[in-house]
Amino acid sequence: MDEAQIAGLIKSPPQELQISTWISSPQDWPTLYSREDGCRLEKMWDNMNRLSLAKKKFAQTRFILHQPLHRFNYREMASLLKRAHKLGFDRVTFSPLKPLPGNPEAIALTTNQKRTVEKEIMQLKQIDFGVDHNLNDLLHRMRIGPDVWQTVPCYMPWSHARIRSNGSVTFCNNPNHLMLGDINQQPFSVIWNDRPIQKLRKQLIHHDGYKHIIESMDCAYCCHVLHNLCVHQVVRRLSWIKLMIPTSARL
Ligand code: SF4
Repeated sequence: MDEAQIAGLIKSPPQELQISTWISSPQDWPTLYSREDGCRLEKMWDNMNRLSLAKKKFAQTRFILHQPLHRFNYREMASLLKRAHKLGFDRVTFSPLKPLPGNPEAIALTTNQKRTVEKEIMQLKQIDFGVDHNLNDLLHRMRIGPDVWQTVPCYMPWSHARIRSNGSVTFCNNPNHLMLGDINQQPFSVIWNDRPIQKLRKQLIHHDGYKHIIESMDCAYCCHVLHNLCVHQVVRRLSWIKLMIPTSARL
């Protein structure tokens, strides 16, 4: 982000500014970004410093640093937390990197690395880094694993809508999601009760209905899984809802 972009943001400050980084250790950076020159990591930190210096002009803005965890950076959690604190960020969030379509093993964490991450989270949780973080939630998500629908049903089409800057409406941030409508064409209240979402809800009432949806979307390590779990804790005792719960998840 250059000076002009930062100045533009200051003019209309957002409530929350989330910066998603793909930081790795300096040693692993060339392996991960073989086509990039090694200076890019430094440049990224320079930009982050510049933003941090301008932070006092964003009085109402919450700064969040987001880091997907993969096999080239999973040992960097502590250093990122320290650095985020130094830069004055308000929160750091981590999420396990989804396996990449077509090349699932490319850089996603291996089973052993996931175990290492879980152990490290247990230790890091004890330390006060002076910055808010999502380590508790991360541990929970790591334990649920990538096959979220085997453990927790998805309730998002009943509880969550996402309106993109082009007006399209969907129900979660999965890029492969079916579009439910467009607020440039129809009011949101119509889209939220229209046929596409009704059809989806009917499909998801039954666990078998998930099969059609899983094939077209990648839900691994869904960031909404803990929200779904909370809803699930409430509704799991309702008899009709058991239809949509996989046997393994009927606690
Ligand atoms: S990613 Fe999958 S599980 Fe998560 S909210 Fe979207 S559809 Fe539901």
